[in-house]
Amino acid sequence: MKQLQSMNRLLLGPGPSAVHPDVLKAMATPLVGHLDPYFFEVMNGTREMLRTVFGTKNELTIPMSGTGSAGMETVFVNLIEPGDKVIVCVNGVFGERMKDVAERCGASVVEVTAPWGQPIDPDEIRKALEKNGQVKLVAIVQAETSTGVRQPLKEVSEIVHEHGALFAVDSVTALGGIPVDVDENGIDACYSGTQKCLSAPPGLSPVTMSDDAVQAIRKRKTKVQSWYLDLGMIANYWGEDRFYHHTAPISMVFALHEALRILLNEGLENVYKRHEDNGKLLQQELQSAGFELLAAEGYRLPQLTAFRLPQGLDDIRLRRELLNLYGIEVGGGLGPLKGQIWRVGLMGHSSNLANVRLFMGALQDILN
Ligand code: PLP
Repeated sequence: MKQLQSMNRLLLGPGPSAVHPDVLKAMATPLVGHLDPYFFEVMNGTREMLRTVFGTKNELTIPMSGTGSAGMETVFVNLIEPGDKVIVCVNGVFGERMKDVAERCGASVVEVTAPWGQPIDPDEIRKALEKNGQVKLVAIVQAETSTGVRQPLKEVSEIVHEHGALFAVDSVTALGGIPVDVDENGIDACYSGTQKCLSAPPGLSPVTMSDDAVQAIRKRKTKVQSWYLDLGMIANYWGEDRFYHHTAPISMVFALHEALRILLNEGLENVYKRHEDNGKLLQQELQSAGFELLAAEGYRLPQLTAFRLPQGLDDIRLRRELLNLYGIEVGGGLGPLKGQIWRVGLMGHSSNLANVRLFMGALQDILN
């Protein structure tokens, strides 16, 4: 068997993004045990920094073991009991995934949809809440990675709370790229992933739950369906009791700790501005070069840009050329957009001016 190679790729896809060299270094920190007092210190620091990035004071704020989908499952398996009514907003692949997960938990799911590329209309959520009686939870994706749409949250949150439901938000691609502001936006349950704008490798899913969400979990009549993702048990390990639940992925926690430290050292406002500036520039340059952006104007994410491929261009061949000639990875379309769009990520450590210029230059070159 050959030794692994260092491939020197420029990760400009929908995730994973480039990992900061100091984060890679942190992963090589010699292991300590998951019940070592030093690791407890690192855990506490990680939780504190996660609260700052999420914009919350929530006590229950922890990185779950597993990728973003584990965070998604954590929210649904802990908050939903069979028969609960749930509204899931679907305008892309990750809304569809939430619906699937909610159904697997036995929820009775009502879908609120918008065309892919458009945000969800808060009035449609209001109508669904008025029509469907006692709804337990409304779930929405803040940054829909399959389309590049940014979903405004505040109005949706107000409508959801007026109707006495809990508000759950997927911030996998949002966190560390645009403000999530969990407390200000009245979010009850929020999950993310480490491999997008936090610029750590995939493997942890930060989750935060409001007091109302914690109460809802306490009031369950049935056991949480998943032993591994049962927040009641895991909180006893991440909290003061330090009860062993499962062996924490130590090196990944080291990585997340370092990634958060780097992000907060730069400053949240500076990080958001960097994403905003580079995203805008890429979108302007693409439009000037004649490409059509998929996401509706006013609802475009700076960290993920989807644009239509002109008809007749061979998606797979061109992406292979971009990778082989320039080492640049971008994403293709998912589901109904397969073969029709490219998705370019400027996430975390990948979001810089040089990468915008490199991508635009390489794109022009392979198209000529
Ligand atoms: N939600 C969104 C918005 C995502 O972009 C992704 C991954 O791309 C996920 C959920 C699932 O995360 P993961 O692939 O890390 O399990």
